[in-house]
Amino acid sequence: MNLPKETRSYCPKCKSHQTMKVSIYKAGKRRGSAAGERRHALRKKGYGGQKFPKLAKPAKTTKKVTLIETCTTCKKKMMNKGIRIRKFELIAA
Ligand SMILES: [Zn+2]
Repeated sequence: MNLPKETRSYCPKCKSHQTMKVSIYKAGKRRGSAAGERRHALRKKGYGGQKFPKLAKPAKTTKKVTLIETCTTCKKKMMNKGIRIRKFELIAA
């Protein structure tokens, strides 16, 4: 699926339609020192440490793509619901 890098859609901050820059969301780098990460490491430690069975045969064959729309006038970012898609590309319009 191809989508243009720029679209016009509603901005709740400007309360009108504005030109939006479209980009793909990427998860940030995980920090080993974060509280949840430390807790997870502690629970996995030792005999019988695996908390849940490792996924051997995943049911899904695709990954979700989340798009971020950035308003060019007020720089507000809006995320959309993730869509499952095999191949995704942003093209210059
Ligand atoms: Zn705006």
